[in-house]
Amino acid sequence: MKLYCFHVGSIDEPMSGMVIPIYAYLIEHPKGLVLVDTGESYELRDENAVMEEKDTILYKLQELGYTPEDIGYVVISHLHMDHSGYLSSFPNATFIVRRAELMYAWWPEPCKLGYDFRTYEKTHDFRYIQLDDDEEYDIFMDGTVVLIDTRGHSRGHQSVIVDLPKTGRTVLAMDAVPTREIMERGFSGRPSADGWAETRSIRKVRDLAAAGCKVLFAHDPDNTPDKEYPRYYE
Ligand SMILES: [Zn+2]
Repeated sequence: MKLYCFHVGSIDEPMSGMVIPIYAYLIEHPKGLVLVDTGESYELRDENAVMEEKDTILYKLQELGYTPEDIGYVVISHLHMDHSGYLSSFPNATFIVRRAELMYAWWPEPCKLGYDFRTYEKTHDFRYIQLDDDEEYDIFMDGTVVLIDTRGHSRGHQSVIVDLPKTGRTVLAMDAVPTREIMERGFSGRPSADGWAETRSIRKVRDLAAAGCKVLFAHDPDNTPDKEYPRYYE
């Protein structure tokens, strides 16, 4: 098994005044390829995006020698636009998402921030595995790629635990825990769909770190993965 970490552009964040990286991941498993999020769309990017066309997940996959048809599963951590930019490019994949996130993203809530309907409007009839709140999902039924509920940042956010032969258990926290500082503090202090749930999720990941898991953060400019593409974890 291999885990690739792709830096797929950055965001010039007006709130913090920082330029924060965006990541998407690819897991090569003997039974298939699992893409975790698709990064920001170059074509639909907003004024805060800092990226070139060669930063996109489609470009990185092509560099690795893969076409979108090679991807068996697309795990959607949540549907914010810096994670869902290229979902519609994988019509043959099986998508795994929290049912609550799908419903939240598709319904026009007045307070909904961070979503761009255009990034997923063409995916309505794709093949979905829809997970319930609190459900754990073991994609290959061998404990190597397990999805856990980390809702709060968004209504149906999920994170991924990858059990790698050499690196050991690695948590792709995604936006549940954007930075190491937030994990150590135990709460985000940022806008979220559900602040209490978000705090529980941050502490869930912190407990996993305390139990020996490696944690990869979604948007931490000071704690980027030590093995970024073209290097990989195994
Ligand atoms: Zn987000």
